[in-house]
Amino acid sequence: MQPTIMLSDKTKYYLDLEEKYGAHNYHPLPVVLNRGEGVFLWDVDGKRYFDFLSGYSAVNQGHCHPTIVAALIEQAQQLTLTSRAFHSDLLSEFTQYITRYFGYDKVLPMNTGVEAVETAIKLCRRWGYDVKGIPANKAKIIVCAHNFHGRTSTVISFSTDPSSYDRFGPFMPGFEVVPYNDLAALGAALRDKDVAGFLVEPIQGEAGVVIPDEGYLATAKQYCEDANVLFIADEIQTGLCRTGKMLACDHEDVRPDILIIGKALSGGTLPASAVLADDPIMMNIKPGEHGSTYGGNPLACKVSMAALRVLQDENMAANATEMGDLFRRELVAIHSPHINLIRGKGLLNAIVIDHPNQEAAWDLCLAMKDRGLLAKPTHGDKIRLSPPLCINRDQVLEATAIIMESLKILD
Ligand code: PLP
Repeated sequence: MQPTIMLSDKTKYYLDLEEKYGAHNYHPLPVVLNRGEGVFLWDVDGKRYFDFLSGYSAVNQGHCHPTIVAALIEQAQQLTLTSRAFHSDLLSEFTQYITRYFGYDKVLPMNTGVEAVETAIKLCRRWGYDVKGIPANKAKIIVCAHNFHGRTSTVISFSTDPSSYDRFGPFMPGFEVVPYNDLAALGAALRDKDVAGFLVEPIQGEAGVVIPDEGYLATAKQYCEDANVLFIADEIQTGLCRTGKMLACDHEDVRPDILIIGKALSGGTLPASAVLADDPIMMNIKPGEHGSTYGGNPLACKVSMAALRVLQDENMAANATEMGDLFRRELVAIHSPHINLIRGKGLLNAIVIDHPNQEAAWDLCLAMKDRGLLAKPTHGDKIRLSPPLCINRDQVLEATAIIMESLKILD
């Protein structure tokens, strides 16, 4: 049965404005939100929803977390931007705080996730030339099929998803694609002496929460060490307690040579990302060779420290593990013939829909929206289910009941 889309006049008003004046580079669910608190969002008509997307894992700490918002307001009234032409007390404090937090010598702060990925690529290439001794302009970085690392023209150059790269060429050279979760392919690619780095998502989020075999990350890291190649982990979506550990790499005790984080680094309040590495890698970039006007601004520094503190103070990793286990058990217990697969770690989960109708996942998301839960399909038949990490037991059960009820529209 097709869901009927009933929209209020208010909702239609805002949808029409955006349709007319905004570029059509997204395909959002027809819901217009104007308030958030914890695991909940409200639309312009005052209807409440469970947020099962969490801003693509940027809102791990929950919407408008009071500690993070207090830090934001306090700093906004004090100093927001100096540029990196001058120092700020907050940047100094932040550099110490975050490097101790993650155990690296240095941090390079940026804003969006993709900027941090770009930064990691530049750092890796520079290390390749200055330390490894790769001939000029020959450095290669190995990446994985079905990766998602952002939308800049360099980063889409090594995407394998036509909707990311089609008719946006010409593309940046210097990337080799290997299948994900394929150690033999990685081993073979690492034989090339011009390889400087291996860039990987510990779990492929956008691809539909694809979890590699146990041991993949640890063995890949070992292969990289053996080949004198940097292991670069993009933890923008998987990091910051989302999968039940501070970093998804922690599940295999892997310490990346270059660590990329973003999204929940600010708890969903403003763009803040960071690249962490030790001196032998980070110190190859010299003054004037890389940067960003807003990167490391005092406002983001203050907010990021608060956001990181909240993750620890509120035991969000442990809650993600516990609630994630409960959630997947509850999903399995639904025994829906329309769910082909349930997979996930911590609170990064996805279901794969099995239905002859190509639009089934989208229709299910509309049905869940009508019943008070927001989620979005990725790659057609997959729906990511990743609520804020502050979700509690009763909320998991209530949300699962909504999903169960909504699945009936596919009967
Ligand atoms: N890397 C990963 C793994 C991501 O999931 C994303 C965004 O979804 C990005 C990079 C890009 O981050 P941003 O959208 O902040 O540029």
